Parts: sequence; C-alpha cells; structure tokens
Amino acid sequence: MTDTFTAAQKMKTRWLCVSAIRSGKLSRRNCEKCGADKTEAHHDDYSKPLDVRWLCKTCHGAVHRGQTKKTPARHRRTHCARGHALMGHNLMTVRCGDGRSPKRKCRECHNAADRRGKQRRKSESHTAA
Ligand SMILES: [Zn+2]
Ligand SMILES: [Zn+2]
Ligand SMILES: [Zn+2]
Repeated sequence: MTDTFTAAQKMKTRWLCVSAIRSGKLSRRNCEKCGADKTEAHHDDYSKPLDVRWLCKTCHGAVHRGQTKKTPARHRRTHCARGHALMGHNLMTVRCGDGRSPKRKCRECHNAADRRGKQRRKSESHTAA
C-alpha cells in the first residue's frame, strides 16, 4: 500500500471522521474481524474520511502491521463473480464460525440466491399440497 498522505491530511481525515460520528452521520460498528464492540475507525484511504473500517484495537494493529504483507487474492477482490462491485452497501462481510477472516460477499448475489431459495421452497410446497 502506498502511503502518500501527510500527517496533516491524516489528522484532518480523522477529525472529519470523529465529527461525523458525533453528528450521527457515521455509526460505530463492531469489529469487522472479531466482532468486538470497542472499535476504532481505520481508513484504508485517507482521502475518504467517511470510508472507514471498524476494527478493535487488536485487529486494528494487525491491519497496520499486515499492510506490508500480501493480502490473499480473495480479500482483494473488488467485484463478485457476476461483476457487482464489492463495496459500500453491496459488500457483506460474513463471519465464519471460528470468528476468523470474514468472507466478503456480494449482497446482490446473496439476495438473488435467497429469492431463488424462497421461490423453490414455495413451488415445492405448492406441488406437495
Ligand atoms: Zn477485532
Ligand atoms: Zn488504521
Ligand atoms: Zn454479485
């Protein structure tokens, strides 16, 4: 990751972020990695103050230490298999049972699969009745 932002820019971004939380524009969430409720806002991109990831202190530290490491390809995916953008509201992170490495899922495809499942169940009950 290239770090081209100055300390002043980062400070401004953090400040904008904090005031957005205070004014209710941005709501604090649980840690995206382990689900802990004490979280800090992490910026992948300091040019987007409201584009934050919520991480607990431990996971936050790990993210910063891990930035030099290569992220596995599946974590870097920006689009799903059908070409929907994996970002913003379309991005779902699903925690697995063991609490580690949440899966990034496409909400659009997830909803479509959900609808298909419901339709199938419906038609099955129709034919059964
Ligand atoms: Zn965590
Ligand atoms: Zn951070
Ligand atoms: Zn999709």
